Amino acid sequence: MIRDAFDAVRVRKNFPALNQKIYGKPLVYLDNAATTQKPKSVIDALEQYYSSENANIHRGIYYLSQQATNAYEGVRARVRQFLNARSSEEIIFVRGATEGINLVAQSYGRTYVKEGDEIVVSVMEHHSNIVPWQMLCDEAGARLRVIPINDEGEILTGEYENLLNERTKLVSIAHVSNVIGTLNPVKEMVEKAHGRGIPVLVDGAQAVPHLKVDVQDLDCDFLVFSGHKMFGPTGVGVLYGKSELLEKMPPYQGGGDMISSVTFEKTVYNKIPYKFEAGTPHIAGVIGLGRAIDYLNEIGMEEIAAYEEELLRVATEALGRVPGLRLIGTARKKSAIVSFVLKEVHPHDIGTILDRQGVAIRAGHHCAMPLMQRFGVPATARASFAFYNTKEDVDALCRALGKVREVFK
Ligand code: PMP
Repeated sequence: MIRDAFDAVRVRKNFPALNQKIYGKPLVYLDNAATTQKPKSVIDALEQYYSSENANIHRGIYYLSQQATNAYEGVRARVRQFLNARSSEEIIFVRGATEGINLVAQSYGRTYVKEGDEIVVSVMEHHSNIVPWQMLCDEAGARLRVIPINDEGEILTGEYENLLNERTKLVSIAHVSNVIGTLNPVKEMVEKAHGRGIPVLVDGAQAVPHLKVDVQDLDCDFLVFSGHKMFGPTGVGVLYGKSELLEKMPPYQGGGDMISSVTFEKTVYNKIPYKFEAGTPHIAGVIGLGRAIDYLNEIGMEEIAAYEEELLRVATEALGRVPGLRLIGTARKKSAIVSFVLKEVHPHDIGTILDRQGVAIRAGHHCAMPLMQRFGVPATARASFAFYNTKEDVDALCRALGKVREVFK
């Protein structure tokens, strides 16, 4: 039974995009790992900002600019609280998870990674957590090492420990896989890496919107996430970094706001976090992200996690009854993401037929081509859930998969 305490049907009413028909069928939105829909409060925050609060931040001496600065910096404080970081200076606004990882690769990586050094990632990483490290390794003459997984899609922790050595300069690992939903044991992995003095970056893109993430508890050195996957606007995200590391890192980009003084002879950089925020940021996006965090706090991350766990159980059981369906990724600890293939049907055909039934899922390699290779499939179909999805959405997915069977029988 889905928990009564959480009323997904009521919550759905806050999301205007969910209340529409596609090809005459009610929209069943199951592509939340790609991006989430936005609650009215986030949409209103953007409108309000542009209608009556718009001004550039930090430099203005007039009322509107000060208001915008307060709103922007207020969100930094709320993100700090949301992640339980020690200080707001550890919160850097970026464009999203991808930019956060690139920032660390370019700033930390180019400073500390030298020829012969190693970076450790897992085989289930999103391309965003592979390619920036490959670029760095190419430049520095370093090597990317890859943690293998078992057939269920779980990290082989013994193999992970074997990969760590005196050449390892960083471990970068997804908290939750965007393809198979595996919830990785990041706290234990951080502990192992720290035992050898190796810092760890956690790609929290698929974790932060779905479970309580506490950076002090994980003790990770960096963590990134994207606003648009957590009910906020696109084009904004966060890099959390321990202040002692951020202090030692050079700026990622140069420009306005990241300096305290400039002469042609010498430029002095601003303190953290501003040192890493060159140029006018996505002010409206940050304000919208703040509203999304307020929204999540009102519901409660524990409530969300418990509800989605139940939804995952219902979905896994229901899909297990679909003839010819093979689940890809059956880890014991998972977030509400289900990837699957259907015998003799290409995932893109599944996606197209489901779309005609109003069911939006993702089909493809999900920006994780090495993981596809690991499972020996070119692509999968993926349904990814959020707290506004219901058991009825799971039923609609299974009914639509019945249509696929009719077409391909
Ligand atoms: N990491 C993971 C695990 C993801 O799922 C995604 C988005 N699919 C990213 C990184 C990149 O996020 P963005 O495109 O928002 O930067």
